[in-house]
Amino acid sequence: MQFVETRGNDGKKPLTVTFSEAILSPSGSFGGLYAPKELPNIDSDFLTKHKNSSYKELAFDFLKMCKIDIDDETLKQALDRYELYDDASNPVPLSKIENDCFVSELYHGPTRAFKDMALQPFGYILSSLAAKRDQNYLIMAATSGDTGPATLETFKNQSNVQVVCLYPDGGTSDVQRLQMVTEDAKNLHVFGVVGDFDDTQNALKNLLASDEFKSALKEKNIELSAANSVNFGRIIFQIIYHIYSYIELLKNGEINLNDNIYIVVPSGNFGNALGGYYAKKMGLPIEKILITSNRNNILTDWIKEGAYDLTTRHLIKTISPAMDILKSSNVERILYDKFGDKRTKELMDELASRGKYHLSEDEISEMKKDFDASYSTDEECLDVIGEYAKKDYIMDPHTATCIKAYRTLREHNLPTVIYSTAEWTKFSPTVAKALGMDEKEDLKALEMISKKTNLKIPDMVIGLFKKPIVHNKIIDKNSIKDNILTIL
Ligand SMILES: *Cc1c(COP(=O)(O)O)cnc(C)c1O
Repeated sequence: MQFVETRGNDGKKPLTVTFSEAILSPSGSFGGLYAPKELPNIDSDFLTKHKNSSYKELAFDFLKMCKIDIDDETLKQALDRYELYDDASNPVPLSKIENDCFVSELYHGPTRAFKDMALQPFGYILSSLAAKRDQNYLIMAATSGDTGPATLETFKNQSNVQVVCLYPDGGTSDVQRLQMVTEDAKNLHVFGVVGDFDDTQNALKNLLASDEFKSALKEKNIELSAANSVNFGRIIFQIIYHIYSYIELLKNGEINLNDNIYIVVPSGNFGNALGGYYAKKMGLPIEKILITSNRNNILTDWIKEGAYDLTTRHLIKTISPAMDILKSSNVERILYDKFGDKRTKELMDELASRGKYHLSEDEISEMKKDFDASYSTDEECLDVIGEYAKKDYIMDPHTATCIKAYRTLREHNLPTVIYSTAEWTKFSPTVAKALGMDEKEDLKALEMISKKTNLKIPDMVIGLFKKPIVHNKIIDKNSIKDNILTIL
């Protein structure tokens, strides 16, 4: 698999790069991203062949088909990270919640959110590439809650990589904060930043663009990469579970080979949905990808009306904070795939200069071949969580946005997979509220929910409240650079 740039080539960067080049330096010409030049086929033979495979076997075979420049041994070691999941033989269990609706639970990994699905193997690969090249990498992450813990966890004690993780002080749940500040390893550095997530993220973006910072890193022989979903090294692992869920339905006799299904994806930066889109394009029988959001519903407008307009919006804080996003980075890869690099550059330039763009009527019809979209308010999500709790299924507020899409967007009565992106334990005060209980502290809310529902709180979650805090620095956004240069 070779990679090309979504906004075209500037004549300085190479015209195509390999997988390892795309993950070590993920930004392309004119601020674009890397996207695959061609995709392999997933045909019925491939699906049949893997009816009895383990997740790891399926993943290995898929990655081999992609022909990426990573050796077999490294791939195998990377996929061994799924051994850390609750059930290594079935890391992504499928729960039936309606006759034709199934929840693919992506959160059974070490940090209880779906970010582990990609970050676990990705972290291993990035670190081993860095070691082989004898280079040192710095990964910087600004997080609103789930990316931070998953990034720290995957790079913990890995060679040739250091991680700086910035979180908004007071802007994450207790569990999310403890997952970061108790993560003890020499190569991990965690700072709380005074302000909200936007302040933290903007401070990081300015820093990454600063020549002074770049030359300071150069002096220390440190290269910069990224672990967010602009990095294709994450996206490739997010194609696999869509295939796996389809095969699970097949195995359980819920569908016949080549039957179409719907998938419903709670979306923020659109990495999960992009993985589904590539799977569909490769031939996985997906009728449509239904995109769900909270009230930050810019993706709904984009898909339904072709409008991407930041000028009329400000970020709204919701109970599904991982989807409180307005600038969704992987939208660009869809634009590239459908409309080419020239048009993508034109649209992205327009977004940068005017804060908005509109797709043409033809382009909107093109989008609707693959996507539809809806959003849910916080009240609707609380109702959904309460309703399913009565039927003994507990879901988190991000997953809850999927139910409305399942109920209202399907044009055919086809089996539907909704993706569950976080465990209820990460958002326990909200889940407690949906169950009619009022408790602001995570630990108490966890215990109340557990008592009421008989669900076990995983050891790794309960254990967080007893672990010593090793990162206790809260810094001002103007002092991020100095703090980072001091520790490196
Ligand atoms: C990151 C995240 C999302 C959004 O996923 P994208 O791939 O960025 O669209 C949704 N839910 C949870 C819980 C997340 O952590």
